[in-house]
Amino acid sequence: MTEALIRRNLDGVAARTRDDPDHFLRLAGGPKPQCLWIGCPDCGAAPHEILGLSAGDVLVHHSLGPIVGPHDIAILALLEVAIDLTAVRRIVVCGHYGCASLRGVLQGGGRGLVDHWLQPVSVLSERHAATLEAISDLEARTNALCELNIREQVACLARNSLVRDAWWRGQPLSLHGFAYSEKDGLLRDLEISRDGGPASHRGQHASRKRPTKAST
Ligand SMILES: [Zn+2]
Repeated sequence: MTEALIRRNLDGVAARTRDDPDHFLRLAGGPKPQCLWIGCPDCGAAPHEILGLSAGDVLVHHSLGPIVGPHDIAILALLEVAIDLTAVRRIVVCGHYGCASLRGVLQGGGRGLVDHWLQPVSVLSERHAATLEAISDLEARTNALCELNIREQVACLARNSLVRDAWWRGQPLSLHGFAYSEKDGLLRDLEISRDGGPASHRGQHASRKRPTKAST
């Protein structure tokens, strides 16, 4: 089994260096990602391929949903790296249409720890039950939940202290919510981008005044 994996690695290296002998030397020089991508692991396409970039151009975090959990140490640590050390300019939260995880939420779960992880999406679906139940087709309902979830996760990210501190410092950082279709390879911009400015953040950072402890 491992021999097959190593063989595919060797074949891949040979293919990449055939016409570009310095391919790996350039990567070893240290790519500087401009974007953090938060997506769902069962999406059928790699984020850098979706964006038409090289793998080193994108920091990637995958979680079922996806979910930007306020207590998820994995995403919090990566956010710190992305914002404070790498200084990415964009954070993309991207769901995908036809997501099996979200379909499972609509079908009532029954998957153990997966249900536990997806509980925030389950709560979200209950909050929007009237809208979702009005959609009879399960795939269409799953896609509607996908978009609702991305809106929720971008809002959650906008409340994150690492993001808010970056905005308070005046660091260029924008948040975006996308949904990806595996059927045609296209991204849909849900038009919920935020950059910490007064227009896109509904005035919460209009004065860029850092909240005092007493007001938080
Ligand atoms: Zn998914």
